Amino acid sequence: MPRKRVLKLRCPICKKAVRSSNPEFPFCSERCRTIDLGKWASGGYVISSPVKDAEEPIREATPEDSEGEP
Ligand SMILES: [Zn+2]
Repeated sequence: MPRKRVLKLRCPICKKAVRSSNPEFPFCSERCRTIDLGKWASGGYVISSPVKDAEEPIREATPEDSEGEP
């Protein structure tokens, strides 16, 4: 009986077995991942992970920028 080394963990939220191939690993689903994130946020933990702020393009202050505003 060959033993496959498949990394399997239990979802920290619902304790369901999760394989490392799961895109939401170590969580079983996006839902559980979101729940965990919420736990961290409400727990007041300080997370020093890099923040992805690529969604907001860096705007350079231009003269037109301030003139356009009311
Ligand atoms: Zn889960």
